[in-house]
Amino acid sequence: MGKITGFMEYQRLQEASEEPQKRLKHYKEFTLHLNDADAKIQGARCMDCGIPFCNNGCPVNNIIPDWNDLVFHGDYKTALDTLHSTNNFPEFTGRICPAPCESACTLGINELPVGIKSIEHFIIDKGWENGWVKPQPAAIKTGKKVAVVGAGPAGMAAAQQLARVGHDVTVFEKNDRVGGLLRYGIPDFKMEKSHIDLRVKQMEAEGVTFRNSVLIGKDFPANVINWAKETISPEQLNKDFDAVIMTGGAEQPRDLPVPGRELKGVHFAMEFLGPQNKVNAGDKFKDQILAGGKHVIVIGGGDTGSDCVGTSNRHGAASVTQFELLPQPPEEENKPLVWPYWPTKLRTSSSHEEGCDRDWAVATKRLEGKNGKVEKLIAARVEWKDGKMVEVPDSEFELKADLVLLAMGFVSPVAQVLEAFGVERDARGNVKATTDGENCYRTSVDKVFTAGDMRRGQSLVVWAIREGRQCAREVDAFLMGDSVLPR
Ligand SMILES: Cc1cc2nc3c(=O)[nH]c(=O)nc-3n(C[C@H](O)[C@H](O)[C@H](O)COP(=O)(O)OP(=O)(O)OC[C@H]3O[C@@H](n4cnc5c(N)ncnc54)[C@H](O)[C@@H]3O)c2cc1C
Ligand code: SF4
Repeated sequence: MGKITGFMEYQRLQEASEEPQKRLKHYKEFTLHLNDADAKIQGARCMDCGIPFCNNGCPVNNIIPDWNDLVFHGDYKTALDTLHSTNNFPEFTGRICPAPCESACTLGINELPVGIKSIEHFIIDKGWENGWVKPQPAAIKTGKKVAVVGAGPAGMAAAQQLARVGHDVTVFEKNDRVGGLLRYGIPDFKMEKSHIDLRVKQMEAEGVTFRNSVLIGKDFPANVINWAKETISPEQLNKDFDAVIMTGGAEQPRDLPVPGRELKGVHFAMEFLGPQNKVNAGDKFKDQILAGGKHVIVIGGGDTGSDCVGTSNRHGAASVTQFELLPQPPEEENKPLVWPYWPTKLRTSSSHEEGCDRDWAVATKRLEGKNGKVEKLIAARVEWKDGKMVEVPDSEFELKADLVLLAMGFVSPVAQVLEAFGVERDARGNVKATTDGENCYRTSVDKVFTAGDMRRGQSLVVWAIREGRQCAREVDAFLMGDSVLPR
């Protein structure tokens, strides 16, 4: 423990960020990592709890009290090694993780929690700035070949772990760049894509081969991004590789089956967000959906919706409104009731701060327009009684709408891909596999494993990394009889 009285002396510090009016003019990251002096003080707030709930609250079980202490003592290199021992890509989580570890922090019971995420961000940026993040190629090759289908954080973590123990890993990705939703989905202003490019370089130096623009399977729905130029069948992969890992995410968006859904100007969020990432990368994109000058309505109150808000404001939307079906949550959670778990409470993202009208307990009834183009949205207020949604009588209202973005989450992985592999599915349509016990992360098909959103459904980057790492261990044990990889 760095400083015994630190938690009583120092306040939690937010990372500095550019003002909304300035950052709305660009798509770059606008949050700066802590400086050395501030990071030391934030590290000093950690109480080095006998039972560190933060460590348990973190899906990758980051060894948080240790690196808090190491940062306090200025030993950034050991802090980086400790951080990397549980997390392959802390520059991703240090930027976009909602930090369930902080909800679990003991200091958070009666104070603001330790700024764990800001310290993680500080450590990994220090690592890259000082050239400490180096490839770790395996000393001995096993001669075993593994195919990873999908280059999101789950696939990347699995591939890196397996390459480091000597397997010959090829990652197949249907889109033209590596990263999954981190690349095409999460806006650049939340995480610049150069962070993924640096990891791709590192992984290539460790022996991973990336084959982009290759779809595994053949049939694919038109409403999901697919920029593949080539297809390979699952049978071919099974023939060519000793093991296959399915990490294709949960990309099938939830639709809004109301009258007027077919009107022009009504789009899934990913049709709006993915192309913007592509344009930011310097690519041309034909028929990009633009929000400039338009009245935008975002349906869905989660992360994806918030990303649509931030992007619409950068396009110069005339107005941005975000609807959520559920009632507005409380501003503060009831700590004694919920700690150390993730609380339901009002979350205001940096995109909301940039400008947006938020409205809760609103259900869209229909969309209306002229000449095939959406012009207004008709909604009604709802109440929730015994878990059931009831429309409030005479509460209908309408709003001008030139662009309606559907951000109501994702129902499952793309069914056609699972059908092509012939894997069994669970009740929610995800690939069926357990995470514990014998044969965990294994699908019903021989040699085929799965991890990340494709197994658990739409989730978080940190869970994808955890599952990718754990799945890699199971694949290694399957190929070699045993594994030295961490679980
Ligand atoms: C807009 C948006 C914002 C989000 N914001 C956050 C956030 O701030 N913080 C957070 O923690 N989480 C966030 N999430 C969730 C997070 O991005 C996902 O949980 C995470 O990326 C899942 O990782 P994954 O590797 O399992 O799948 P994905 O990231 O979905 O990657 C799957 C990859 O597989 C590829 N693929 C699929 N099928 C095939 C096939 N048949 N052949 C070849 N390739 C295939 C896809 O193209 C994709 O690249 C957000 C999600 C969205 C949509
Ligand atoms: S729970 Fe909070 S105070 Fe305790 S060890 Fe973890 S970060 Fe430090």
